[in-house]
Amino acid sequence: MKVEVIAVGGYNEVGRNMTAVRCGKEIVIFDMGLRLDQIMIHEDAEVENLHSLDLIEMKAIPDDTIMNTVEGTVKAIVCTHGHLDHIGAIPKLAHRYDAPIIATPYTAALIRQQIEGEKRFVVNNPVFELPAGKKYRYEISQHLSLEFIIVQHSIIDAAMAVLHTPRGAIVYALDFKLDRTPVLGDPPNIARMREVGKEGVLALITESVNVNMPGRCPSERIAQRLVRDVMTCYEDEKSAMFVGTFASNIARVKMIAECAHEIGRKPVLLGRSMERYSSTAEQMKLVGFPRGMTMRGNRRTVDKMFRTIMKEGRDKYVPIVTGSQGEPGAILTRLASGQTPFKIEKGDKILYSAKVIPNPMNYGQRHTQEVLLRMKGARIFTDLHVSGHAYREEHYEVLHLFNPQHVIPAHGDIDMTGGYLKLAESCGYTLNNDAHILRNGQRLLIN
Ligand SMILES: [Zn+2]
Repeated sequence: MKVEVIAVGGYNEVGRNMTAVRCGKEIVIFDMGLRLDQIMIHEDAEVENLHSLDLIEMKAIPDDTIMNTVEGTVKAIVCTHGHLDHIGAIPKLAHRYDAPIIATPYTAALIRQQIEGEKRFVVNNPVFELPAGKKYRYEISQHLSLEFIIVQHSIIDAAMAVLHTPRGAIVYALDFKLDRTPVLGDPPNIARMREVGKEGVLALITESVNVNMPGRCPSERIAQRLVRDVMTCYEDEKSAMFVGTFASNIARVKMIAECAHEIGRKPVLLGRSMERYSSTAEQMKLVGFPRGMTMRGNRRTVDKMFRTIMKEGRDKYVPIVTGSQGEPGAILTRLASGQTPFKIEKGDKILYSAKVIPNPMNYGQRHTQEVLLRMKGARIFTDLHVSGHAYREEHYEVLHLFNPQHVIPAHGDIDMTGGYLKLAESCGYTLNNDAHILRNGQRLLIN
């Protein structure tokens, strides 16, 4: 059986991930993502009306026209977690393939929301839930089956995908970190990774975002300490305390809400995406929030909550809000420019439990936001955050657990995939022999 890896998107950049694996005449697609910085993809962005070809032209989604030249039938579309750079192009591309979409339960719920929000295309692909774990297998065809292995990332229910083929397993490891002490969900299933490695791995396709960072990515527990340290310092103050973070990082949101509860303030989630990600996770019983926590999504209810906070006292609440990237229309941005009923006063605290996703647009917007907040007298706390992407020593560990015949770094620009190559070479792999650097649109036949 011929096995071929087709690098569709995410090999020249961070974002718009898509990889196809052809086994004989059967093809499995992994991820269909949006590139976050090519479009205003933040919570209030409107891509629903755009056409696939325009988005491909903008380099915002993977250029899957290459699939027309690949001989075979797409049997499944597999997504490993619910970030938009992995599922965001499903509403634009999935309908071109007569294949089901398979994902872990929370990811599947987010995919369904994406499809429901689509205005341009009718997407009828069935969406199947496959929980992580050896006992859950999805039979794609007579020759191919799929399994998810639990890992950690900056969103819950993230998994590595293992495609079992007659030639051995193909592991698709985008995105992950190995956090042995997560604040939500189970630790990584290292035992199963080792087992799959022993059974035989033909190829490991792996993210490479943080491979150039030495050591290990700090546990989510560290972010918890960083946030708690600051919050508890101002327990007795009368000033306001806002925390901005990524809406999709449910573990972080939960932890901040618990900290608020501990210091005697009511946590309240504000912002459309903040409400959507958290309420979905809560309805699915994947997370429990402190009692008395409220969520407000649309602008009218958010502003009503702001008026309540003004009336009852700014020291009674901790609003957990969107806008840490300076996105137009997000809560922190509106606060900074004075567009909310809540008015920032001297000494109010703004905590950023998020890093700025590194692109010029975000840097500019976030800078503007901070300057405006400071002008109103706010005190700013930045980088109360840890990454969701594995550092070099976690990559080293995963490489040894799976012990793959071939390794293909993905999800990164050339600095990142090249950084991974260096690591692979130090472990005995050689370029173009059993370690492969692919660029968007390139194909690799695995001998
Ligand atoms: Zn991700």
